[in-house]
Amino acid sequence: MKFNDNYGVYVCPHVFNQESPVFVCVRDPDGDWQFFCHDEECPENSEPHLIGVGHLTEADPSINELTTLAPNTFAERQSPEEPWLFGEIE
Ligand SMILES: [Zn+2]
Repeated sequence: MKFNDNYGVYVCPHVFNQESPVFVCVRDPDGDWQFFCHDEECPENSEPHLIGVGHLTEADPSINELTTLAPNTFAERQSPEEPWLFGEIE
């Protein structure tokens, strides 16, 4: 599966400003995808930005693997070279 380029997703300011690659992806209970940088406190401390997911998949096609995330689950990786590891949100 592949995201439609125009599909809207939420990203943290660091990913939005291309200061950081995506390290964490959360699919929230409403079904929205959210992408975050490496900073664990970022989700609490920053305002998300809405963008077309094509901006992310163009730079990193492995983001397309995250179409399979179910609501209330997440994926994370140690670096952009590492595989995605999937988990459920408590
Ligand atoms: Zn961030």
